[in-house]
Amino acid sequence: MNSTNPLIAVDATALPRFADIHPAHVAPAIERLIAEAQTALQEVTQANFPAHWREIAKVLDVKTERLSAAWGAVGHLQAVADTPELRAAYNQALPIVTEFWTALGANEALYAKYKAIDPSTLNPEQSAAHRQALRNFVLSGAELQGEAKTRFANIQQRLAELQQSFGEHVLDATQAFTHYASADELAGVPEDVLTSTREQAAAEGKEGHRLSLKMPCYLPVMQFAKNRALRERLYRAHTTRASDVVDAEAAANAGFDNSALMTEILALRHEEAQLLGYASYAHVSLAPKMADSPEQVLGFLRDLGLRAKPYALQDLADMREFAAQHLQLAEPQAWDWPYISEQLRQARYAYSEQEVKQYFTAPKVLQGLFEIIEGLFDVRIRPDQAKTWHPSVQFFRIEREQLLNDGAKRNVLIGQFFLDTEARTGKRGGAWADGIRSRWLRPESHSEAGALQTPVTHLVCNFASGSGGKPALLSHDDVTTLFHEFGHGLHHMLTQVNERDVAGINGVEWDAVELPSQFMENFCWEWDTVRRMSAHVDTGEPLPRALFDKMLAAKNFQSGLQTLRQVEFSLFDMLVHSADFQSQKGSILQTLQAVRDEVSVISPPTYNRMPHSFSHIFEGGYAAGYYSYKWAEVLSADAYAAFEECSTPEQRAATGLRYRQNILEVGSSRSAMDSFKAFRGRAPELDALLRHQGMHLHS
Ligand SMILES: [Zn+2]
Repeated sequence: MNSTNPLIAVDATALPRFADIHPAHVAPAIERLIAEAQTALQEVTQANFPAHWREIAKVLDVKTERLSAAWGAVGHLQAVADTPELRAAYNQALPIVTEFWTALGANEALYAKYKAIDPSTLNPEQSAAHRQALRNFVLSGAELQGEAKTRFANIQQRLAELQQSFGEHVLDATQAFTHYASADELAGVPEDVLTSTREQAAAEGKEGHRLSLKMPCYLPVMQFAKNRALRERLYRAHTTRASDVVDAEAAANAGFDNSALMTEILALRHEEAQLLGYASYAHVSLAPKMADSPEQVLGFLRDLGLRAKPYALQDLADMREFAAQHLQLAEPQAWDWPYISEQLRQARYAYSEQEVKQYFTAPKVLQGLFEIIEGLFDVRIRPDQAKTWHPSVQFFRIEREQLLNDGAKRNVLIGQFFLDTEARTGKRGGAWADGIRSRWLRPESHSEAGALQTPVTHLVCNFASGSGGKPALLSHDDVTTLFHEFGHGLHHMLTQVNERDVAGINGVEWDAVELPSQFMENFCWEWDTVRRMSAHVDTGEPLPRALFDKMLAAKNFQSGLQTLRQVEFSLFDMLVHSADFQSQKGSILQTLQAVRDEVSVISPPTYNRMPHSFSHIFEGGYAAGYYSYKWAEVLSADAYAAFEECSTPEQRAATGLRYRQNILEVGSSRSAMDSFKAFRGRAPELDALLRHQGMHLHS
């Protein structure tokens, strides 16, 4: 089987043969590739093996690359072309793959070998990769000895359990709530929600509508239901999920209280930080990120909060006035705001998504996107050939013209990408981009010329398919999503870094990785770009300017309030992970109250227990990192502003070149802050983001 197993590539630089991979290939390939990597690890960690970057890479990195390429292909197929057999094969192999990478990341002998490398033997890219490797070992506890090491391992184990329980409680409390409503009670709620809630009640043999706290039901009810008592009931249940609030109204929480879990999670993270020699968990979280210190993040958030507050107050005043005049709501409560907001949005900015869609056909949008990329970054995108996982998947190559010594020109391959845009059965929802292969001057090759591996990515979206002989129609959201994922793809493909671990998106600081993606979204709000990439599916006419202006106004609706909400979550996240919180035996709810007193313009009821279902920070990987959303938005808006400042095509081309060279090409071979400053000539500023979101008219 091994000789024909497509997951065990003979030529390490070949593209994955997606069409040939079967579930039966997974186990034998992964077992063999892990065994090979283990052997390589043993070899490079022997006492007499040279502590030399390239020698280690030749033996170990070449083998781990084979494993990650094979495993990446399996994981990718599981996401885009899932079958029960493939999922079973994936889940069976997952534990041994995870175990291998975890053990590799904490291997003391390998850490010692890396530490023994003489830094003066490294080129700048290797230095950056070496620094990152050492830092990651340290954060995995590789420096710890004896009791501290045991304690660190126990903390990791306990944290994993607690975080898992936190998430389960939120899920269980969400699912435990049910409310059966009559059609009368749901007056105002959109038809599709009525249909699905009626079907869910019918499936249980019940009359009426089954309401739940899941977003596709909760959100539209809060936004559209005219029945105030119903909204209050759902709001109360939703904002007390998995908390200590257990009474007749929130009986579903019994047994799912996250209060003690949160306290223990925060205490253990703090202890982990101290074992690693940091003042707080916030410091640990920031160590591999672009932001320098918790103080810098707090300053950033408070500044943003102050700047947005006048606009949030105006948003609130608008809602109060509208509620009193048009909705007979004199004293709005927490459960009224989403409803008032939606009614006001419709009154001011209503436009039909269906109408907009007629102007964005998939081929025309793609053509427009390619033209922007080619124009800005001096590359050509052409169709290419590869074995894909579905007939609708497209494959392209990116080339750049290069001037040869004799004056002749030739096209050089820069990177390639798979583009999978259509929703279908067996494909996970959402949109994402990831590397299939990274740019790498391969260490094992003797001839330098043939050794350069070029990057390959996949870009995945879930758009509707075309029908009736017409092309697929995209919403403006879809268009923005496509641009966003291309931003990630370009970041990985246009890199000029030759060291794999710092090439493209590899090793890029987590709070900076959305810069290139969000940057691309800005072009979807440029009138000139939109005009060129829109054409009515029947008439060929571009999107009307008046419709575009409405879309733009709707985009910035209540940006002040939305900004403050993000600032509130982010500040709370930073403060509960601070050293002060532990030394002063802080209370989670009091900390939240203090944050709300400082930044918020709306006070929720005292029973509100937002932290108890704040899974991003208590369950997932956003602990002391929630600020990253806003941080990256500031970076991308400020970077894009450099293009807005151009007044001639020549200036725009020059700015595109600087952006490509200073942001897209450098990977993580230097810090994201250095890259940003190199492009912009200064540190990032808030002004562009506030202006793009309409917060600049009066202040
Ligand atoms: Zn993204």
